[in-house]
Amino acid sequence: MLLKENNTELKRQINYNVEKIRSDFPILSQLVHGKPLVYLDNAATTQKPLHVLHSLENYYYKQNANIHRGVHALSQEATEAFESSRIKVKKFINALGKNEIIFTKGTTESINLVAQTYCRKFLKEGDDIIISEMEHHSNIVPWQLICEEKKANLKVIPISETGELIFEEFEKLISEKTKLVSVVYASNSLGTVNPVKEIINLAHSYNVPVLLDAAQAVNHLELDVQELDCDFLAFSGHKLYGPTGIGILYGKVNLLEIMPPYQGGGDMISKVTFKQTTYNELPHKFEAGTPNIAGAIGLGAAIDYVSNVGLDRIAYYENTLLEYATDKISTLSGLRVIGTAKNKISVLSFVLDNIHPHDVGTFLDFEGVAIRTGHHCTQPVMDKFKIPATSRASFGMYNTFDEIDILYNGLKKILEVFK
Ligand code: PMP
Repeated sequence: MLLKENNTELKRQINYNVEKIRSDFPILSQLVHGKPLVYLDNAATTQKPLHVLHSLENYYYKQNANIHRGVHALSQEATEAFESSRIKVKKFINALGKNEIIFTKGTTESINLVAQTYCRKFLKEGDDIIISEMEHHSNIVPWQLICEEKKANLKVIPISETGELIFEEFEKLISEKTKLVSVVYASNSLGTVNPVKEIINLAHSYNVPVLLDAAQAVNHLELDVQELDCDFLAFSGHKLYGPTGIGILYGKVNLLEIMPPYQGGGDMISKVTFKQTTYNELPHKFEAGTPNIAGAIGLGAAIDYVSNVGLDRIAYYENTLLEYATDKISTLSGLRVIGTAKNKISVLSFVLDNIHPHDVGTFLDFEGVAIRTGHHCTQPVMDKFKIPATSRASFGMYNTFDEIDILYNGLKKILEVFK
C-alpha cells in the first residue's frame, strides 16, 4: 500500500505539486456548510482552472464574433482561436488530420451523431450492434433508437462480478452480422478500464468499426487514436477540466466522408439551391449552425493546462490516490466496493450495508464532501450487482490524501450513526 506518509516522496519523484495545482482552481478553496469543500465528484464533472476561466473571459471580453466567413478582424480572430483549438484536440489525441475532429455538445451528442448518420445509412434489418453491460445510458439508448428503427439487434457483452468485460463472450457475439461495436473505454460507475486494443483488433478482423466512449478516459489515460486504431472516439470537454456544452467526435476520415450530415443548417453546406444542396468539406459537414465558440476555445485551454501538468503524471498520482482510498475505506466493516477490476481509473463506487447511498451522500455533504450517489446513468450495472445505487467518490488531479481521510472519517461516522 502506498501510505499517505510517502506522499511527499511520491510527489517529489513524479514532480507533482498538488498545492500549486489546487491554487489554480479557485472553486476548491471555498467552504460548504462551514467545512472546506472536498470535491470528489470528478467523474460527473471536473472543476475548471483559472487558465480555462481566463480563456473564456478573454474571448467574450475581446474576441466575441461569429466565426468562418467573416472578413472583419474580430471574426478572423475568433475563427483563428476556434480552429486552433481543433488543432490542439488533434494533437492531444494524435489524430491524423484536423478534419477528423468534430466539435459537438459532448459525448452524448457525438454518439448520437454516429448512430444517426453512420447507422442510418449502413445498418440494415437483422444486423447487430454490440455494446457492453457497463455502458452509460448515452452509449445504450442511441443504439436502441436506431436498432428499433432499422429492425436491427443490440447485443450486449456481459461483465463479471469484478466489473470486467468478459472477452470470451464478445468473441461469441461478434459475427458477419455485426455492423458496429461501441464500448466504453473506462466505466464511470465501476472505474474499469476495458481492453480496448484487443476489442478493436478482434472487431477489425471482422471489418467492423469500433466507437470508443472516452468520456471517462480522456482525463486519466493518454489517448492515441492512431495507436488504438479506433474508428470513432467521443468525449466531453467538461470532464477534461474544460467547459460544459462542448465535446468531440473523432472519426477516421474515410468513414466521415461516406457518412451523411447529422443536422442541416448554416456552415455545413457548400452550395444551397432549392433543387439541390451540396455539403461542406470535413469537419464542417457535421457542424451545422453557430457552434459553442467559447466552449471550444475553453477546451483548447484545458488541453494546454492538462498537457502542461502532464497526463502521465496526473494518471500516476490519481492511481496512488485510488489505491490509498480503496485500501482505507475497505477496512470499514459494512462497506463493499463495487467494481474491483485490476485496471481502473480513479473511480471508487461502494455500498454501505442497509444505508441508502442518498443518505450517505447527504451526510457527507454536511461534512463538506461532494460525492455522487445514484445509478450514475448505468442502470444495467446496478441490475447486474442487484443494487439500486452506489455512492461514488472519483478523484481528479487536485485531490489529496488528506481529503481521502476526510471521506473515510465521514463514512466511519455514518456507519456509527446508522448502526
Ligand atoms: N459516457 C460516460 C462513460 C460518461 O461518464 C458520461 C458522463 N457521465 C457520458 C458518456 C455522457 O457524457 P455527457 O453527459 O458529457 O454527454
